[in-house]
Amino acid sequence: MYNAESINKILKGELLQQTGFPEIEHLLLDSRKMSFPETSLFIPLVSARRNAHQYMEELYRKGVSNFVVSEQIALENFPKANIILVKDTLQALHALVAYHRQQFHIPVIGITGSNGKTIIKEWLYQLLEKDYNIVRSPKSYNSQIGVPLSVWQMKPEHQLAIFEAGISQPGEMVNLEKIIRPNIGIFTNIGEAHNEGFLNIRQKINEKLVLFAKSELLIYCKDYLVLNECVLTFHAQFGKKDNQEGHQLLSWSRKTDADLRITTVEKGDTHTSIEALYKQAHTLSIRIPFVDEGSIENAIHCWAIMLHLGMEATVIQQRMELLSNIAMRLELKQGINNCSVINDSYSLDLGSLTIALDFLQQQQQHPTRTVILSDILQSGKGEASLYEEVASLLQKKGVQKLIAIGKNISREKKCFQQIPDLKTQFFNTTDEFIQQFNSAEFQHETILVKGARVFEFERIGKLLEQKAHQTILEINLSAIAHNVQQYQALLKPGTRLMAMVKAFSYGSGSFEIANLLQFHGVDYLAVAYADEGVELRRAGITMPIMVMNPEPSTFDAILHWNLEPEIYSMQILLQFEEEVSAAGKTQFPIHIKLDTGMHRLGFEKKHIPELAKILTENTLLKVQSIFSHLAASEDPAKDSLTQQQGRLFFDMSHELQKALGYAVIRHISNSAAIARHPDLQLDMVRLGIGMYGIDSSKEMKDKLRNVSTLKTTIAQLKHLEAGDTVGYGATWEAKGPATIATVRIGYADGYPRRLANGKGKMLIHGKLAPVVGVVAMDMLMLDVTHIPEAMEGDEVIVFGQDLSVHLLSTWADTIPYEILTGISQRVKRVYFQE
Ligand SMILES: *Cc1c(COP(=O)(O)O)cnc(C)c1O
Repeated sequence: MYNAESINKILKGELLQQTGFPEIEHLLLDSRKMSFPETSLFIPLVSARRNAHQYMEELYRKGVSNFVVSEQIALENFPKANIILVKDTLQALHALVAYHRQQFHIPVIGITGSNGKTIIKEWLYQLLEKDYNIVRSPKSYNSQIGVPLSVWQMKPEHQLAIFEAGISQPGEMVNLEKIIRPNIGIFTNIGEAHNEGFLNIRQKINEKLVLFAKSELLIYCKDYLVLNECVLTFHAQFGKKDNQEGHQLLSWSRKTDADLRITTVEKGDTHTSIEALYKQAHTLSIRIPFVDEGSIENAIHCWAIMLHLGMEATVIQQRMELLSNIAMRLELKQGINNCSVINDSYSLDLGSLTIALDFLQQQQQHPTRTVILSDILQSGKGEASLYEEVASLLQKKGVQKLIAIGKNISREKKCFQQIPDLKTQFFNTTDEFIQQFNSAEFQHETILVKGARVFEFERIGKLLEQKAHQTILEINLSAIAHNVQQYQALLKPGTRLMAMVKAFSYGSGSFEIANLLQFHGVDYLAVAYADEGVELRRAGITMPIMVMNPEPSTFDAILHWNLEPEIYSMQILLQFEEEVSAAGKTQFPIHIKLDTGMHRLGFEKKHIPELAKILTENTLLKVQSIFSHLAASEDPAKDSLTQQQGRLFFDMSHELQKALGYAVIRHISNSAAIARHPDLQLDMVRLGIGMYGIDSSKEMKDKLRNVSTLKTTIAQLKHLEAGDTVGYGATWEAKGPATIATVRIGYADGYPRRLANGKGKMLIHGKLAPVVGVVAMDMLMLDVTHIPEAMEGDEVIVFGQDLSVHLLSTWADTIPYEILTGISQRVKRVYFQE
């Protein structure tokens, strides 16, 4: 049990103020995610861009009374709070949780490596939950912030802990090691990706190995050669020798001698059988319901742990057969009757429920938020107090409707029924709910479907989701947030950020993206046309929105919905002024567009005096910002043009601002300019394509993550003989025996018709398959002769992480912007958060 006094002792801080010591249970780092004010300790983190101390007063008003700070603050604003002063709040967080970890003497498994951390963690949970009361990282909480939040969950009733650790630069693992202090380590594997922040792969491996400095056992796969070398060096230094402290190694390999020597791997259609020789003595085998290489590797890691824990071969076999898919992400899909559905039906515990509820709370598009929830099969906590906590979470996260399924949760009805404004329904089983299901009862709601595995809530998901075609565009919301943060990190302090969400957010969505940007503290949105802005307002987006093409026919909508027009000519200025005057409004916000060399829209230098005169004659309009657009900011050969535009803009905006007599925001940079021309950041930047993961500079490319994946499926396979032709016009002819896959995408979906006959390629099972014949309206054919494992129904990647939209656009002689915005609306968008 902690309180401000004991925490101050642990942190060796200074108690600036103390007013009594209520118990502290929760660590609060993100002010937006506050659920339990009375028992939370707020630790405001400070980064180059954001200083969370600014949220203290708001949280204090909401009932938070315990704070750790690293700055002097005005104590008189927090008369009833306990306030601890430390040098650095992130270090304090780490120190506090490292102390907490030391209070437990149970096996702790620490997992690091490039891929598979989360799956191995979740699979170990599936495999061991019958034998241990397990605490584990929620989702993929493995960062400098995620790890402390994970480890803080450790409670006396736990018998085993499983935590993952990820790093992005040298020096970070030493912190995570102190917090996790694993007894047993797993190094999953090492990939070339994300070398960013590291000199080379060895440096990256050695940094990750720091996690196991105090471990007793390290499990790893010898088949990664560089990893093997680094582990052996690490072992020579820190490993167990004779009677000394130090770790032992447990290696496995598919190629050479190892503690767990994999002797055969036999793949069937749906299952893989794996045989091995353990410690040169026991021949063992398992069978898993997966056939892909990643799953095989992850399962072998889990196998090694189970063997180390001394589990019986038959028990291991039984449980391995039952391994199931891990949904690593929260998906947001279109539902029936104008609903949105968040499907997270694969696991349920308090940690992941909280994350899912935060995501639900971010959704503004519908008036009602509904949760369909099963029993929480989590031992340890008393049922009554568990469901009381859940009920209070639902209330805090603004849920209006609960459908609870399961005997336990139904038994604790009372906890939920006493929450004001929460409508409740209870069912004993999933079948009972499905039998009574009436689709008309769901209208204009955002519905979170969240259940433990055994409840098979995916069946409920199917009832609520709109049937999608097999061609879908997946949008990774976490990647957008990551990309926005990469650009934010480049901005000078105080520089604002406008996000360009025109053209359906470059093809990726409307309110789904805007909700995320609003949540991440972007300052402004910009759309091309008024109706795009109206759609965002209708979906509950309240942040300021600039409209770049304000047509006079939409002025009434602009005024009604509080959109802010770009004014680019005298004519549009006078027309708009008249409309504002007729509506009886004053000081209506507008944005002045200057032409500094693009020669598209905008006022020229000679217009400034007259423009200033009109704007200062009355108080109908208020200039919110002055801006211009760069013609070639991405092109080093045109840097002198860019600089010339910058100078002209500076000069013109200065003249106009002086005449106006008040301060306005000035902005000229688009995505490419943010990194390449930092001197042009001014008061705000306009981020477009970069947010969606695309930037022409090498430096930014390495930092950004892929956002969109367009995928489809194989409808039919055909075996052709030499001389057979394919498609309209018979433009392709087989030279010999060939296998052709017909896939469900055509030019009506936005796949360029010019990518016919080998110009375009798609990925099947990680291999490129060229387009053969012409691209038809709804379908096209691929040559898969060299991919014998391709089957009807298999996934086909049109573009994504491993086949970039940029590459596709060069094949089609165009730019990524055109491909992305050209994907037709009949292609369903599926959003997810990792
Ligand atoms: C589209 C647009 C941007 C964003 O450009 P990107 O190259 O996508 O970053 C910025 N400003 C204006 C005026 C735009 O029309």
